[in-house]
Amino acid sequence: MRSASIFTRLLAVDEVVVEDVAFDQDSRGPLLVIDVRPYARAAGRCSRCHAACPGYDQGGGLRRWRHTDMGQTRCYLQARAPRVRCAEHGVVVAAVPWARPGAKHTHAFEDTCAWLAAHTAFTVLTGLLRVAWRTVADIVARVVTDRTDGVDRLAGLRRIGIDEIAYRKGHRYLTVIVDHDTGRLVWAREGRDTATLDAFFDDLGPQRSAQLTHVSADGAVWIHTAVAARAPQAIRCLDPFHLAQWCLGAVDKVRRRTLARQQGLAPRAGRHVMWAVRKNPEHLSPDQRGTLAGLEESNRELYRAYLLKEQLRAVIHAEPGKVKALLAGWLHWARGAGVPEMARLADTVEHYRPLIINAVTEKTTNARVEATNTHLRALTKRAYGFHSPEALIAMATLTRGGACPPLPGRN
Ligand SMILES: [Zn+2]
Repeated sequence: MRSASIFTRLLAVDEVVVEDVAFDQDSRGPLLVIDVRPYARAAGRCSRCHAACPGYDQGGGLRRWRHTDMGQTRCYLQARAPRVRCAEHGVVVAAVPWARPGAKHTHAFEDTCAWLAAHTAFTVLTGLLRVAWRTVADIVARVVTDRTDGVDRLAGLRRIGIDEIAYRKGHRYLTVIVDHDTGRLVWAREGRDTATLDAFFDDLGPQRSAQLTHVSADGAVWIHTAVAARAPQAIRCLDPFHLAQWCLGAVDKVRRRTLARQQGLAPRAGRHVMWAVRKNPEHLSPDQRGTLAGLEESNRELYRAYLLKEQLRAVIHAEPGKVKALLAGWLHWARGAGVPEMARLADTVEHYRPLIINAVTEKTTNARVEATNTHLRALTKRAYGFHSPEALIAMATLTRGGACPPLPGRN
């Protein structure tokens, strides 16, 4: 087999002719340069719409695209990048079969990079592929745009969750919409106000808004106002995830207030108490169980707060037929327990009572949505690399929006 045909097979790109292969060198070491050209039928096409177009000029002359390594050697495809005049898109660079428009990397390299971004740590990815994080962000954005282009991600929505996620310090937020039936992120935008949510309902359109049956969200008034106005038929539910967070927050306040009174408590003992009251009982270590048992004697207020937390958890997971009575009992107990933080929580719970009952009776949350919410929060914690909300949204769409490409050459 001629070496050109071997390289053609190795590249695994359709409609490409290998003309020459040579070694070159740059500041980072040796590299392999494969001279290629598209088949005649793939040449002279608009990079936006792929229509055959008359040539315009030679553009920037020879260009290189980084390809996946050959062995341990960096590999580049080299070709001319002429421009064409498209009737619809004007003068544009001609399409090439091996790369997306505007990309400096081949399809195979970009898909490998995106797949790794979704499946491994960023340091592994940047080390393995020898790319900067900024390059990864650009590639992810391009791959996601390419793979979601023409895909209606809002089709068939029935039950959705609306969430607001803080990213970066300084209180900048994204509003995200998750499909409860698939667990997928289907929409996200910077901002958290009625205008942001109105943009979602505008994208959804009146007909599909009317088909929503359930909407779950945290307690934000603006969300419930917008949903009531734009999808009044949908049953609104409080996301139990947020209810659990509020409850943990109240228990933490009780713990800090009561432990501050206990003079001379070692920091280590304080940490034991923290985990003992925060964790679910089934996850407690024997030591933590002991700490908890001791609290019943030493810190009655905190112990009562703990019991209220556990009881509210039981309400969230109750049989739909029992939730009303259990919640009424919980409210009565929380108000009479003599713990101010829990009485304040009871006021909040009272305020959202119908939405909590809906959440339990309609069983809106599922493990996949929880996993998506947890994942999105973890993603924002790594937000040092995200220079813009768009980059973060692209990353979230890649990992949770079903936009991750398969590894090149695998099915
Ligand atoms: Zn065109």
